[in-house]
Amino acid sequence: MHNAAYAALGLDAVFLAFDVPGERLGSAIAGARALGVRQLAISLPHKQAVMAHLDEIDETARCIGAVNTVTLRAGRLVGSNTDWLGLARALERETKLDGRRAVVLGAGGTARAAVFALRERGARVTLLNRTVARAEAITKELGAERAGPLESLAELEFDVLVNTTSVGLRSDASPVVASALRPNSVVFDAVYEPAETRLLRDARARGARTVGGKWMLVEQALEQIRIWTGETPPKQILAEAFDQLA
Ligand code: NAP
Repeated sequence: MHNAAYAALGLDAVFLAFDVPGERLGSAIAGARALGVRQLAISLPHKQAVMAHLDEIDETARCIGAVNTVTLRAGRLVGSNTDWLGLARALERETKLDGRRAVVLGAGGTARAAVFALRERGARVTLLNRTVARAEAITKELGAERAGPLESLAELEFDVLVNTTSVGLRSDASPVVASALRPNSVVFDAVYEPAETRLLRDARARGARTVGGKWMLVEQALEQIRIWTGETPPKQILAEAFDQLA
């Protein structure tokens, strides 16, 4: 996606992927700093640990507690977070968020970005997770209204459902039973592999509108490119690059 966007913008730049083990994270960042790498996209499982190796972390990333973007600015490595905006913009393809009743499934790093995004856009948020204590902690910290177990979805009325659990990743499982899904809701799945998850299939079969994780991935990458270059490449270029690999 990044390389397709750089080509579209006429930038002499390349995006490369490196598989960095946890114990090498510090030396990987030091290496990037020494090489003058302009931007780093940080993925699992380093989004929290990377914060200790940066010169500065912006307020939003600090509040979410995770960094997915590191940009070299005047010799300093600055951490920020574009996941939350990617998630908000993905949802906004199908619905307004202000005043909506939203349920987030999960309590990991992506759930934190989701709660932040939904609160920022004025939604009321309930957080459900397999381990309820983790959902309760985020609820307090980021201002969600309620926390509970995944099974309690069946008892809730909601307009927007956001899955941030990893259930469905490279499998045909869903984090919730199909009967708990509401016909008039919008269902978003952060999982993008497969592009069409069981949750999204179940939701459509129940009459809900759906948004796939691809759109969060595309939108958060667009924002990374905007932070670095000040320019916004055509969204379709990134979406087509994703489709070629999916
Ligand atoms: P994480 O921090 O590891 O959190 C995983 C969450 O999934 C936890 O809440 C965990 O519950 C729950 N979970 C795991 N296995 C479960 C199971 N068998 N049953 C019920 N719950 C289960 O992961 P993350 O960083 O938040 O990422 C979550 C997903 O979002 C991943 O699939 C990732 O690929 C995707 N993602 C997508 C994008 C995008 O751009 N589309 C961006 C970021 C992440 P417990 O607390 O009970 O363990």
